[in-house]
Amino acid sequence: MLIWGSRSESKDLGQAETKPCPTCERDRPFHLHVQYRLHHVWYLFKWVTGRQYLRLCEVCHRGTEVPAASLAPAVTKTAVPLYHRFSWALPVPLVAIGVVFGILDDQQRAGRNAELIAAPRSGDLYATDISRLVRGGDDKYRFGVMKIKSVAGANVEFVLPRANYNKITAATRDMSSESVGKPDYFSTSAVQVPIADLKELQDKGVIHSIRRE
Ligand SMILES: [Zn+2]
Repeated sequence: MLIWGSRSESKDLGQAETKPCPTCERDRPFHLHVQYRLHHVWYLFKWVTGRQYLRLCEVCHRGTEVPAASLAPAVTKTAVPLYHRFSWALPVPLVAIGVVFGILDDQQRAGRNAELIAAPRSGDLYATDISRLVRGGDDKYRFGVMKIKSVAGANVEFVLPRANYNKITAATRDMSSESVGKPDYFSTSAVQVPIADLKELQDKGVIHSIRRE
């Protein structure tokens, strides 16, 4: 659920100055105040709008607006707490961390694939772009899960699936589900691939991911 809101904030910045107050009709201490609206989403991401500076009588709290340009930069820079102004930036590093983990995950998958490809075993499952492996394959529904039927000499024999998909994600979903274990998941068609070619097929993206029980 999205929780958001805003509130008015006001802060006394000090900067005392004594001058005649038209309301009190006598000399009064005036302080500089900053007012702004603080907006938040989930009380975590915050930002500020409508910032204005006021010089107010300490007794009757009346006064006049002061243009920000007339104030020292040291005053305006520190007037609003940093965590009010910049906490919207918090998600930025979080997204960056997510991207890094995504890349590491891809690298880990490639590394694991390389190990399995170097020593294929019967029963290994390959999520593959089958159209790039089998001549006359379907251009649109090109992705599917193949299973190693046997490893003989320099070749592996894969059995092809009955179901093919237009997205690799559908094939990887099948591969991690129980459906690949069903007796009728695979067809009787098979394809021979030299073990020496598997690495190149992986590098070209024909082989996307591999599962071994
Ligand atoms: Zn006053």
